[in-house]
Amino acid sequence: MNAMRGNLGWIEVVCGPMFSGKSEELIRRLRRAEIARQRVQIFKPILDHRYSADHIVSHDDTRIRSEAVNTAAEMEAKLDLRTEVIGVDEAQFLGEAIVPLVVRLADMGKRIIIAGLDTDYLGRPFHPMPELLAVADEITKALAICMQCGNPAKHTQRLIASEDLIVVGAAGMYEARCRRCFEPNLAAEEVQKNEVQKKAEAVSAGAK
Ligand code: ADP
Ligand code: ZN
Repeated sequence: MNAMRGNLGWIEVVCGPMFSGKSEELIRRLRRAEIARQRVQIFKPILDHRYSADHIVSHDDTRIRSEAVNTAAEMEAKLDLRTEVIGVDEAQFLGEAIVPLVVRLADMGKRIIIAGLDTDYLGRPFHPMPELLAVADEITKALAICMQCGNPAKHTQRLIASEDLIVVGAAGMYEARCRRCFEPNLAAEEVQKNEVQKKAEAVSAGAK
């Protein structure tokens, strides 16, 4: 979608697992908008402090400056009305209110480009990404490479012991896996293993 007749707004969503190149693709599209001398604003959740608070940084270390926000309301408060193109990374952390906001902005004639995880560490739809995909004008679903077998990977495999929906992390904590290699129960098994180990330690400490 390159042609701009009048100020027709639209919503683009780039989704996929971790390491699938969502941030890279978001940065590429936003760079091109900047080259076209459009007014661009870029947001990412404060939660995601992995590499930088004021930049979106891809796993390949491409980066673009961004504003950190906690919620959709904060994003709206920071928006300059003259902004023509709005980028949002890690949209799955911004809550349901992002959905009506981006629809309103598109209706005002803005171009919104959103990147986010479509599924969580158990392979379940990661809200509000399904809702964003539904209201989008254009969708890109990216795949990573399975770290076990090299096939195209649609899943984000959690490698550490935690059953919380949100555990921010990168290499070492998560890897990309294909459908066949994906082990959704791994995180829960790791939690159980840790508990068994803790109990065993407590028993042996008590025996001393
Ligand atoms: P995302 O935003 O989807 O997590 P990024 O754009 O941050 O992805 O990173 C994509 C880059 O990560 C790739 O260009 C590649 O250099 C690197 N990478 C590391 N592991 C993988 C993997 N398993 N599959 C694909 N790319 C990977
Ligand atoms: Zn695999």
